[in-house]
Amino acid sequence: MSNNKSLLAVRGMNDILPPDSSQWITIEVHARKHFEQYGYNEVRLPILESTNLFERGIGEDTDIVEKEMYTFLDKKERSLTLRPEMTASCVRAYIQHHVYKHETTSRWYYMGPMFRYERMQSGRYRQFHQIGVEAFGVTSPSLDAEMIEMLYRFYVNLGISNLTMNINSVGSDKDRNVYRTVIVERLEPYKEELCTNCQRRLTTNTLRILDCKIKKCIEIVTHLPPLSQYLSTESKAYFDFVQESLSLMNTPYALNPSLVRGLDYYTSIVFECAVTQEKTSILAGGGRYDNFVEQLGGVSTSAVGFAMGTERTLMAMPSHKNNASLDVFIVHYGDHAKTQAIQIAQTLRNINLCVGVEHRSTSLKSQLKQANKLNAIYVIIIGDDELQHNSVTLKTMKTGTEHSILQSELKNKLKELLA
Ligand code: AMP
Repeated sequence: MSNNKSLLAVRGMNDILPPDSSQWITIEVHARKHFEQYGYNEVRLPILESTNLFERGIGEDTDIVEKEMYTFLDKKERSLTLRPEMTASCVRAYIQHHVYKHETTSRWYYMGPMFRYERMQSGRYRQFHQIGVEAFGVTSPSLDAEMIEMLYRFYVNLGISNLTMNINSVGSDKDRNVYRTVIVERLEPYKEELCTNCQRRLTTNTLRILDCKIKKCIEIVTHLPPLSQYLSTESKAYFDFVQESLSLMNTPYALNPSLVRGLDYYTSIVFECAVTQEKTSILAGGGRYDNFVEQLGGVSTSAVGFAMGTERTLMAMPSHKNNASLDVFIVHYGDHAKTQAIQIAQTLRNINLCVGVEHRSTSLKSQLKQANKLNAIYVIIIGDDELQHNSVTLKTMKTGTEHSILQSELKNKLKELLA
């Protein structure tokens, strides 16, 4: 007996089939155009990386590295991981190819699947897709602001409203060290009430406690003073400049002092884009990560970037009907018409039209039904009559009008009609 279970996709990993795939293409085409308008170019990097890239890059004490990575040994017993995000890979590639030697600033964008072994729920999968950007080599609040504006505009142009751009500053290393001392002191009396992970984090990675999802820890953390109170004059000035630039660009934002983001590498500005529908969903997040390149062995290079979730973006997009995907569908009846139909299809594809043709020998009625289903704009009908006169019948699907046209004139006529 066959075991059907083994034929299913892996839990948490989705197939994307037509017509749904057309909305994916809409987002991807929009992303390419949008980011290229701001001077970003695409990078395509491997899906598999050495595990230690993420351990060193994202931080061993993060949820991703602690429990969510798809890690395995290859045939030579090297530990590899399916990328859970792409900033670490971008930094690895930036260092590996000595990109800083060839250009002072680099603006990259990427899109592709990411993998995290997470608890599944709506909008949270184990294979999901991100589209992201990274800019290397510039420390300037105007770049951070431009990036936040670029993200905001991306969504607005896709027709997504109800957006909140949450922003915060997590300050410099020095600011965070001061803050760390403060919260260690404040948390000490509550040590026993914290979850075991956070008890450990008190001495290893204190700031991560602010990001813990355990209810009791959240309650305790709520009473801590925000990091914003411990920002240096410099960090404050940088953050103020970002806010002023956003206002100048008419980009709405909300200050969110508790925003720290889940990854270890952020410094200074962090941001998240949320949409409120039935419930709030975080569509994208990012920030500045000025130490990351150096931390992974490269020359000190400042950087800022963000990643957005494609699935969540799709969920937030106004649903639209699949638009016409075919210019022409060719239907045929009679013994010889099929060969002619296939030849006409080839001629029309040569002038870049999208052409469908029925390869089965079915009734005229069912072929017309098929044309309708495929949203064809025009249908070409060829039967014995048309063959005899070297003509075809051209039907406009929207109006239902039909007229006869010589095959020799078909190409130009369709070009004119579809121009
Ligand atoms: P992060 O890399 O965790 O900052 O996530 C950036 C964006 O990726 C989020 O705002 C989500 O839109 C998306 N995302 C992250 N994890 C998942 C997941 N497991 N399933 C679907 N989307 C995700």
